[in-house]
Order: sequence, then C-alpha cells, then structure tokens
Amino acid sequence: MPNVTNANKSPHPTADTLSALVDLTHKLGQPEREYVIIGEGNTSCRIDADSFWIKASGQGMETITPAGFVAVRFESILGMLDQSPGDLAAQKAVMQAAKVDATAPGVPSVEVTFHAMLLHECGVQVIGHTHPVAVNRILCSSRARQFASNRLFPDEAVLCGPESAFVPYVDPGLPLALAIRDAARRYMDDNGEAPKVILLANHGLIALGQTPTEVLNITAMTVKAAHIFAGACAIGEPVFMSREDILHIYKRPDEIYRRKQFVEY
Ligand SMILES: [Zn+2]
Repeated sequence: MPNVTNANKSPHPTADTLSALVDLTHKLGQPEREYVIIGEGNTSCRIDADSFWIKASGQGMETITPAGFVAVRFESILGMLDQSPGDLAAQKAVMQAAKVDATAPGVPSVEVTFHAMLLHECGVQVIGHTHPVAVNRILCSSRARQFASNRLFPDEAVLCGPESAFVPYVDPGLPLALAIRDAARRYMDDNGEAPKVILLANHGLIALGQTPTEVLNITAMTVKAAHIFAGACAIGEPVFMSREDILHIYKRPDEIYRRKQFVEY
C-alpha cells in the first residue's frame, strides 16, 4: 500500500494555515456556488506531523470564524480506524480527547475520521468536503459510477486527475471513513498516486490538495464537469475521452507546469 505522507512540510505557521483554511471554507460556502447549505460540509488542513485543523460540528461554512475550527491530534483519531472504540458515545469521547487543547470550545466534525485518514495516507495538506447540487444529482442517480470513472474534457483531467475514486453509500462516521480508506488505497494501487477527487454515492464530494486554492479549483472543476455530464446525458450518451488521451494530457510537461500555477496560495 503506497504511503506518501509528507508529514513535515506544512508550508506555513499555524496561524497562517488557519486563516487560509477559514478563507477556503468561506469560498466553498458562498451560497451562489450551491456547494453546501446550513451546516453541511467540512474542511481540514495539516498543522504539523502530529495535528490538524478540522471544522467543528454544527458550524456553517459561509460564516465560520477561526474559533469554529478545532485542532486535533492524528494519533487517537487514526487509532479508531484500526480498532473501533465502540458505540457513537465512545467514539465521541475519543474525538473530544483528541483535541490539542482540551478546554477549547467545539467538537470535531463527525467526519473527522476520514479527514485524519486522508491527510495521513494521501500526502495532501488540505481537504474540502462539500455536497454540491450539480454533483449530487449525479451521485443520486444510476450514472454515479460512470461519472467517477470517466473524463469528458482536458481541463477536468488536468485538475481532477485521470479518474475519481468512488465510494458506494455508507453510513457517515467511522463506517464511511473505512470505506473511503478502501477506495483511496485501491485508487493509489491502480494509479500510482493519491486521488484528487473522491465521490461518495448519495452524499457528496471530497477534494484533496496541497493548498486551499487547489482544493477550491478541484471542487469548481468537478462541479463544472457535473454540469457538462448532465447536459451530455440529456442530449444523448456522453462521449468520454479515451484513457490514452487522458493520461497524455495529464502527464504533458506544459500541463504539469500549468497545474502547478493553479496550486499556489
Ligand atoms: Zn458530507
């Protein structure tokens, strides 16, 4: 199993990292984007080798402040994936104990387990999880897996990777984190690198990136691809790029250069 953890390369000190995460969360939460409403969605980013910021439960993305995030240690959260502490109450006790500052307000999002696992296993710094209308109408249809497995246009392949990892519907919380881990590991075995997009059937989208800007771009491009896919399906059968064309554009040096420009803070 590839493990490309990049643990000691947090690009900014803690305060800058948090303010960039708050900014990303506000953008993902802008109502006109239709990515989330009310308390939907969550974001996280690595602080250092031992800990990460995660949105606290019940916070709205559009209006969240730095106080709406909680710093959490990886170790005890990752431990839950290998050995479940038991029922929901026991899991919540572990999440509470994992806080770097036990007296800080806020409870980590119920999805803290998959955030910890993806930051740990996929070598990424930032994660954005949303429920975009355009993406979810496909993920709530019989074409969900088809959308995940294919690419329709070059910029989708360049920003979102050669395909998306796909996870069938699973109860949110620990069971979902374990299913996402299986899908991410399978993707890394098949593609030799971590996924940029993970699609959760009947649920939503996870974007994985090195910076907040990359996560925002991946989310926006996946939403655009969803609109185009739905339009293509309405007109007839979608015509997908060949795997050969996808890999050619994804690995072209000028496109790799262009992708790097998109990633900047
Ligand atoms: Zn969700």
